[in-house]
Amino acid sequence: MKELDADLHCHGRYAGGVSRNMEIPVLAEQSRLKGLGLLATGDIIHGEWLLHAKRTLEEESNGVYRDREAKCHFILGGEIEDDKRIHHLYYLPSLEKAGELREKVKGLGALDCSMCGRPKLRINAEKFAEFVHDLGGIFGPAHSFTPYTGIYAHFDSLKEAYGKMHEHLSFIELGLSADTNMADTMKENHSYSFLSSSDAHSPWPNRIGREFNRIKMKEPGFKALKLALESRDEEGKTITLNAGLNPREGKYHCTACESCFAKYSAEQAEQLKWKCLKCRGNIKRGVRDRITMLSDTEEGKHPGFRPPYLHLLPLAEIIQLAEGAKSTNTKKVQSKWIEFVEKFGNEINALVDTDEAELAEVDTNVAKHIASFRKGLVLYIPGGGGNYGKPIICASEEEMERKKKELAAELSGVSEISNQKTLGQFL
Ligand SMILES: [Zn+2]
Ligand SMILES: [Zn+2]
Ligand SMILES: [Zn+2]
Repeated sequence: MKELDADLHCHGRYAGGVSRNMEIPVLAEQSRLKGLGLLATGDIIHGEWLLHAKRTLEEESNGVYRDREAKCHFILGGEIEDDKRIHHLYYLPSLEKAGELREKVKGLGALDCSMCGRPKLRINAEKFAEFVHDLGGIFGPAHSFTPYTGIYAHFDSLKEAYGKMHEHLSFIELGLSADTNMADTMKENHSYSFLSSSDAHSPWPNRIGREFNRIKMKEPGFKALKLALESRDEEGKTITLNAGLNPREGKYHCTACESCFAKYSAEQAEQLKWKCLKCRGNIKRGVRDRITMLSDTEEGKHPGFRPPYLHLLPLAEIIQLAEGAKSTNTKKVQSKWIEFVEKFGNEINALVDTDEAELAEVDTNVAKHIASFRKGLVLYIPGGGGNYGKPIICASEEEMERKKKELAAELSGVSEISNQKTLGQFL
């Protein structure tokens, strides 16, 4: 059995809001530097992207493909938006099947729109799932809990959303604002594997693989991936790790104003009729509060096959924090990043698998920061309303306790404005 780190959600250069650098050869090279062994192509039923894939990929065997320089394996897949604006992910076993899916949905919406991030189809979740299933593909909801486009934003259960096709669901994608602990407070989710994916719109290693899954497979292949995702084997777990951002970093984690990002508790938002005290903007319910509404089992209970979830940041962002640099693009951050990647082969090796002592040979301070992440010594000022959260790395348990007290108000996920002003003043 081999273990591959897989990122199964990204977009190609022809979709709206995506970097022009998002092409297969660039993705393959950056995946190699990141340490990803398997990548989903994204957008495979987009006309131009399908042509690009045909030109740049070679079929390996068993429904996986390789770029011409054989740097990374690719699985064919993409994302669509259905008639309720819900996003779904799908994977297919061949370019031929991708062409067939394209034909099937051709008259049902905008397929090749350069302004859209993904095809908008005038069909519901069940119908789309049926199309994919009939072609031998697999499907599941994308960023399931996010407001607007996550399945749980519209439905209270997967059965309600997918109808009879819910039995054929292969996975649930968590999205950047949720993790295993949160998602498993819903009993229904205990029947499915979780995918943690980047949803990258640019190919650089602080985007691709910012979330990934470690998957055990005999050989990379479409059937092997399907088996791994659908396996419930407690002993021989096939997904051995989910890794990604702490959900508090996600931009829709807390309930918050979409204009000024002031954060509110769900009760306050309800009382305010979802209008911000500070600017009268719209308050959007956060993933945390949506999951609390739906949760029907206590936190900390997981099915036996569930792997651990490792909270991480891209290496460049950890270096930026360690150096106190303004961005990940400074010369210092970039050259340090290259040093780590060259020494340990790729980014994930450095981030997840190399001892702190070895990491310290490159840079003690960065090594300490990585170790703090692995030990969970990180506090997060949570995100909300479309604004990302912010991590604060602590050197020790003591420092973490001290900062928890110092920053209690900011860490709470409710802004000062909503605490200071009495709600009555504005109602
Ligand atoms: Zn999406
Ligand atoms: Zn996406
Ligand atoms: Zn506001």
